[in-house]
Amino acid sequence: MTENFELIAELHKGGAHRVALQAPEGLKRRLFRLAGELKSAGFKVSISGDPCYGACDLDLEMLRDADILIHLGHAPVDGTDQVLYDIYRMDFDPVVVLNAVPYLTGPEIGLVTTVQHVHLIPAVSNILEDAGFAVTVAEGSGRTPYAGQILGCSFDAARKTGASEILYLGTGLFHPLGVQIATGSRVIACDPFTRNVEVVDGERLLRRRYALIEKARTADQIGILFSPKSGQGRRELAERLASLSPKATTILLREVTPDQLLNLGFSCYVNTACPRLAYDDQVRWPVPVLTPQEFEILCGVRTFDNYEVDEIR
Ligand code: SF4
Repeated sequence: MTENFELIAELHKGGAHRVALQAPEGLKRRLFRLAGELKSAGFKVSISGDPCYGACDLDLEMLRDADILIHLGHAPVDGTDQVLYDIYRMDFDPVVVLNAVPYLTGPEIGLVTTVQHVHLIPAVSNILEDAGFAVTVAEGSGRTPYAGQILGCSFDAARKTGASEILYLGTGLFHPLGVQIATGSRVIACDPFTRNVEVVDGERLLRRRYALIEKARTADQIGILFSPKSGQGRRELAERLASLSPKATTILLREVTPDQLLNLGFSCYVNTACPRLAYDDQVRWPVPVLTPQEFEILCGVRTFDNYEVDEIR
């Protein structure tokens, strides 16, 4: 019996015959099995093999020859009824949150996580409430449709809690750092798999970003990158930024790689594509890659005191 009975029933109900499949890198190996099941059920199937980092990067090219695109692993960031999103849930024991209790000052806290874990938010909230905390989980909005969900480009669900202390459940430090800078709140990060808990220090990141802006002051040519990807294109922003400096030129670039930046030869870039490229990947870049807000600081139209994390909302 197929594992994807409901999916197949939904596709039949919608009258789809030609199905395109897309998944981010970590889930790509699930696609050949899904393709096999769909083919056995009578569908004509093709797989998108190009890199994909989010639902902001739909393979619309494939949709030209398909009735529907099934996108695994992410929640929708843009509404199009030709795409079926199948988020990938990752379970953990909600009791792990008790590890974070000694770090929380409380009693009021906000709670956020990434899409893989949003289904566990009610259970985690109950455990925290039993431990004496008043937990706020903000409703979803825009590209984060689930309550309590944040993305590397949207910290709305953290901001909307209004809490002066926020608990992030998930892996990695990028998201909680973003929460900290976006909200100014005290942020505790709890990794449910390693069970590590830490108080997030956004100041270190800000010091590094300040140094980068200073380094960018010596640049003689500045490339303003904008993306053709479905949910990352910020052309108007790129053009507005380019108008701030005679050194700046807009550059359309689908995949931002160190080789591409070297080949283009600019001594500084400003990234208007996925915000994580500037923050998370800086060590990979051969020259400074600034966020839009950092470029505004460089151009003197914003002060560092008014630093804002880059988001696409
Ligand atoms: S823009 Fe970046 S952070 Fe936002 S959904 Fe896409 S890949 Fe994720």
